[in-house]
Amino acid sequence: MGDIFLACKITKIKAREVLDSRGNPTVEVQIFSKDKNASAIVPSGASTGIHEAHELRDGGSRYMGKGVQKALKNVKIIEKSLKGMDACAQKEIDNAMIALDNTENKSRLGANAILGVSMAAARLASECKKMPLYKHIAALYKNKRLLLPVPFCNIINGGKHAGGKLRMQEFMVVPNRAKSFSEAAQLVSETYHILKGIIEKKYGKSAVNVGDEGGFAPPLTKAEEALTLITKAINEAGYEKKISIALDPAASEFYNKNSIYLLHKQFTSEKLAEHYIRLSNKYNIISIEDPFEQDDFSSFSALMKKARFQIVGDDLLVTNTKRIISAAEKRLCNALLLKVNQIGTLTESLAAARLSMDHGWKVMVSHRSGETEDSFISDLASGIGCGQIKLGAPCRSDRTSKYNRLLRIEEELGSKARYARF
Ligand code: PEP
Ligand code: MG
Repeated sequence: MGDIFLACKITKIKAREVLDSRGNPTVEVQIFSKDKNASAIVPSGASTGIHEAHELRDGGSRYMGKGVQKALKNVKIIEKSLKGMDACAQKEIDNAMIALDNTENKSRLGANAILGVSMAAARLASECKKMPLYKHIAALYKNKRLLLPVPFCNIINGGKHAGGKLRMQEFMVVPNRAKSFSEAAQLVSETYHILKGIIEKKYGKSAVNVGDEGGFAPPLTKAEEALTLITKAINEAGYEKKISIALDPAASEFYNKNSIYLLHKQFTSEKLAEHYIRLSNKYNIISIEDPFEQDDFSSFSALMKKARFQIVGDDLLVTNTKRIISAAEKRLCNALLLKVNQIGTLTESLAAARLSMDHGWKVMVSHRSGETEDSFISDLASGIGCGQIKLGAPCRSDRTSKYNRLLRIEEELGSKARYARF
């Protein structure tokens, strides 16, 4: 026991500025023990919720104001208080950073500085314990049921991630009837490539350029157009019994102060709810995330009474236990979108997942639109056994790194690997 403690003692913390998938700077943290080191890279959103923890950027002209040198300096401040701590003591590490920051939204040190340390500490601990990260996370979460998650794969990108006229942000395929994660990856990849052919034939070659999450961004205006293309691709692939559809409209992005939702035409919240129900009846939609603006609680609650699909809270909940408690009381949704950088530490992310599961909700671990080669979320989803992960299209290394990590985890687990059902 003493040996393990010594091996996990933090001796040094280093941070550097690296680039994310949009070419913007982000924080990479590397933590050292006597004979080991581990690193982690922080992701970054575009359609960020207003209640998210603070992502610290430098301002000024360097990197158009997006530099993270201030966050790197803050990692040096964090280093002083964490040096000598046990990397395996995730809660103590995260609580020490929360106390040091001492703000509601991590605006002093920056959630990006804090999260980089939190994730890298978990990786170092897993190295020290000589176990894969997903097993270490399972131990932290006290979960005995490792589970390969069903991927939610965004193959048509709209909204802020694409820049066209299609206002809803994400059109996802969900291989919820696959038998394994590897089969799921195959079904999604084949469907993605069939969709590419369909779009190219109808709209020309430039229409298959991809958006921030690797999905296509053809010149569409209505959700129906995207859903028709995707349904055609699923049918042509022959996977209509194995693949369903999910949406993330990210409605905070097309809501205006007069309580109007501006899609291809104007919708009141009541009309928008009817629109979702109609779409879900016509297409095989099993899940809708952020159907309304993040503080439009009455619309969430009204939809919950009518909908048969899963309703996921992203901007609504921002992985924050206070907002989860309030949303559960008001019955606003029945699933948490878990994004580690919305809250800023692994410990608080695990608490958000636990609280959601205790309320009988589902949990979907999620990437951000600005991602990196770091596949931490694949281990996180497998470790907590939540059964769902959102990871973009099976295209571009920032997205495929997550698929590939899950494929390796499945191989490593061998006959013990279990794929979730939805
Ligand atoms: C999302 O809205 O769920 C998402 C992944 O986008 P972003 O990272 O831009 O918030
Ligand atoms: Mg979202």
